[in-house]
Amino acid sequence: MMAADSGATILEDKEDAPKIPERKKTKFDVVIIGAGPSGYTAGIYCSRAGYDTLILSGILPGGQLVNTTEVENYPGFEKAIMGPDLMIEMRRQTERMGTTIVDDECVDVDFRNNPFKILTSSEEYEGRAVIIATGANPRKLGLEGEQTFAGKGVSYCATCDGPFFRNLELIVVGGGDSAIEEATFLTKFATKIHLVHRRNELRASKVMQERAFRNEKIKFLWESEVIDIKGDQKMQQAVIRNIKTNEETVLDVGGLFVAIGHEPNTRLFKNQIDMDNEGYIILKNKTHTNIEGVFAAGDVHDRSYRQAVTAAGFGCMAAIDVDKYLTEKS
Ligand code: NAP
Repeated sequence: MMAADSGATILEDKEDAPKIPERKKTKFDVVIIGAGPSGYTAGIYCSRAGYDTLILSGILPGGQLVNTTEVENYPGFEKAIMGPDLMIEMRRQTERMGTTIVDDECVDVDFRNNPFKILTSSEEYEGRAVIIATGANPRKLGLEGEQTFAGKGVSYCATCDGPFFRNLELIVVGGGDSAIEEATFLTKFATKIHLVHRRNELRASKVMQERAFRNEKIKFLWESEVIDIKGDQKMQQAVIRNIKTNEETVLDVGGLFVAIGHEPNTRLFKNQIDMDNEGYIILKNKTHTNIEGVFAAGDVHDRSYRQAVTAAGFGCMAAIDVDKYLTEKS
């Protein structure tokens, strides 16, 4: 029990209390935030140019390709390579070049002064140059049921979750390459796929469209949108509305895959880095952002191409720009 003259005791307690450890400072020439194709490629180039380079990979390294099945359009692989395998190869190559890779999440940045500060929950890193390669995240439909049934029927990753949906009817929403790729992949497990798209033509590349049109398991619901997701413990139904006629249809389905694009992962840099109204980083010149010494590469600024190979290309460009910047500075 605490003594009556407890002031001294409290003070002693405070002195004895374990101190919150100060963040360990770790200095690098270049800090790359993000470990997709752009981040890894930037790491390879920066390390090869002799810079002490750190990649902060986040908690799910590998970027969007980790959620992709076969990649047929990344040069160097005569036969298709699985997305996750490609990212493992890239990581190994980057590490072999001497890049330090830390699987931790960046929680804050301070770009006001150089060296820049890049913080995780336990560490403070410093970089003379920074490359932002944080990529983009899947876009949500914005329905209440989407949250209620997330992980209980609603998914954003066919590759990750497809095998859990065997012998069920499923919905895929979207009309781009992702939606078509996911729908095609899911036909391995599902009895039928309803592809719900808001327009009457697909955005996906012709070759992928044709593959999907030939697949008898995929049924297209044109000019339609999902307006509600229903169920009990798991999702059981989705309500589809025809945009032109307003007619509503209830589909009994065991799962719904949302594949409607992505949002750039730039929240951390708000108020420090110039962005457009959708949060894509604006490049001022080549890969330079508005802050001298801070560069951006990949889907975080690129809304046009968004391919693994273009992201890798941007990573290379950012690293070359970093080299020029650091050389001129020293
Ligand atoms: P995307 O090309 O932006 O397509 C998004 C699709 O979702 C569009 O059809 C869009 O409709 C629809 N959409 C957007 N917001 C919606 C909403 N709120 N409600 C309903 N529908 C909505 O995105 P992506 O398919 O994820 O592809 C991104 C990039 O990666 C593309 O450049 C693509 O070529 C590439 N990619 C390539 C491969 C491959 O080559 N293997 C695989 C996947 C992705 P609208 O068409 O009406 O705009």
